[in-house]
Amino acid sequence: MIVLEGKAVFEGVAIGKLSVYKKKEQMVKREKVTDSAAQIKRYEDARQMAAAQLQALYDKAVKEVGEASAEIFEAHQFMVEDGDYIDSVENIINTECVNAEYAVAKTGDNFRQMFLDMDDEYFRGRAADIKDITERIINCLMGAGDGGVESDEPVIVVADDLAPSETVQMDKDKILSFVTVHGSANSHTSILAKTMNIPAIIGCDIPLTDEMDGQLAVVDGFEGKVYINPEPQVLEEKKKIAAKEQEKKALLELLKGKDNVTLDGQRINIYANIGNTKDLALVLKNDAGGIGLFRSEFIYLGSDDYPTEEEQFAIYKQVVQTMAGKKVIIRTLDIGADKQADYFELPKEENPALGLRAIRICLTRPEIFKTQLRAILRASAYGKAAIMFPMIISVGEVKKIKEIVAAVKEELDNEGLAYDKDIELGVMIETPAAVMIAEDLAKEVDFFSVGTNDLTQYTLAIDRQNQTLDEFYDSHHPAILKMLKMIVDGAHKGGAWAGICGELGSDLSLTKEFLAMGFDELSVSPGRILPLRKAVLETNVSEYKKEKGYI
Ligand code: PEP
Ligand code: MG
Repeated sequence: MIVLEGKAVFEGVAIGKLSVYKKKEQMVKREKVTDSAAQIKRYEDARQMAAAQLQALYDKAVKEVGEASAEIFEAHQFMVEDGDYIDSVENIINTECVNAEYAVAKTGDNFRQMFLDMDDEYFRGRAADIKDITERIINCLMGAGDGGVESDEPVIVVADDLAPSETVQMDKDKILSFVTVHGSANSHTSILAKTMNIPAIIGCDIPLTDEMDGQLAVVDGFEGKVYINPEPQVLEEKKKIAAKEQEKKALLELLKGKDNVTLDGQRINIYANIGNTKDLALVLKNDAGGIGLFRSEFIYLGSDDYPTEEEQFAIYKQVVQTMAGKKVIIRTLDIGADKQADYFELPKEENPALGLRAIRICLTRPEIFKTQLRAILRASAYGKAAIMFPMIISVGEVKKIKEIVAAVKEELDNEGLAYDKDIELGVMIETPAAVMIAEDLAKEVDFFSVGTNDLTQYTLAIDRQNQTLDEFYDSHHPAILKMLKMIVDGAHKGGAWAGICGELGSDLSLTKEFLAMGFDELSVSPGRILPLRKAVLETNVSEYKKEKGYI
């Protein structure tokens, strides 16, 4: 038995086989070869394997998301068969006497550049597809597989770290737990674990070797430990804990359908955070009062090109309809920093977290923003949608946003397309600047939602992605708590309601504090809803408010 320690980011016990996540990243070296024919044969085999993978992906996507959305994999299949691409690879192998990996990488770079140089926007967009198929063929050559989880049964995913674009592609039904070598407590791996309600451990020195693959292990998210090949008595003990957890979950089930009201009668809305439509089942299962944060950028991250208005409309409509009249707050695209999509071709930045991200991209590239707004507004005709804008720093930005929203509404009116004319608009409070001007911002919008993950990062000047700084990252820092009170007060004075959608919202040690401060809503990962409801139901808040001088 090997016992490894790390930092637990979600409690619970998972028992199952380990699956080492294969990164798609490749280090291609140029190697001289003597047998070119052998390299061409290797290339041909890899190409066949890539084509088979794409066929499997196409079939899966047709079943899950329909034929139109699956077309991308068909297009990639055609690219793998492209005669010019094949000729180029073979030519490089023959003339330079090099390994197949290098020839494919070089061809991919050349073709990608050729597409990028084209005037037509459609063809420029194909550059990302070339990169994708090139990486796929190289993966096949290097035996790195397709990337992702390769198992038929649910497994414990072990990885160095997971980027949002990687987690979005994972088949969530096959994941029992995450264990990562890197990643911070606020990274998207942790957020995903909380959404899925599964134990996760980060900062764990687990070897990412083939020998680890398939080993039986226990992840204990209470202790922050991983037991590989557990001894029989350890396994028995952990099985008992897992069973007790199941019992607790069953007790929480009894809270379904109950109102979120304190012992002394104060109500609060408890909503759910989601990243895509697959999370909806968990939202309903956990009895959320609405969706307080739909991270719409995951639609962009899961795509090889800008998602069209129709594609987005279909997704937003599905969410709004599924929630059947309950509020669905869709956050507009929050790309940049840790969430990168190649086709945006964002400039390389020294400080991406302080760079061109979120609303800044939307305001500098209004065509992307308008497409999304049209899709959300059209979906608003099917239920109760609201729109929320991330990373706001000024009233001027909000005024510009409102002008764009008004222009889009006018377009829809002219086209006779329906939408909710009273749709609520809100801003995320994620920067100290927004906190300081909260009251002025509140006069412009219907609601605030505090992104405590970014607000803490920007206030404490601590990169939320940097695991080595976790010991300095104090989410209960008095500066943050003071700011939260300022935000609620500013919101209410300016006539807006205020919620929290950052991870701090589900911190049960602060539930009483948030209620006392006067927050109207807390939006948390689906798995956190019922424990939070339990905490609210068990709280007495009036006395505490007086003690703190809040009333
Ligand atoms: C936040 O910053 O707290 C937030 C909710 O947004 P994200 O985690 O997606 O940046
Ligand atoms: Mg944020």
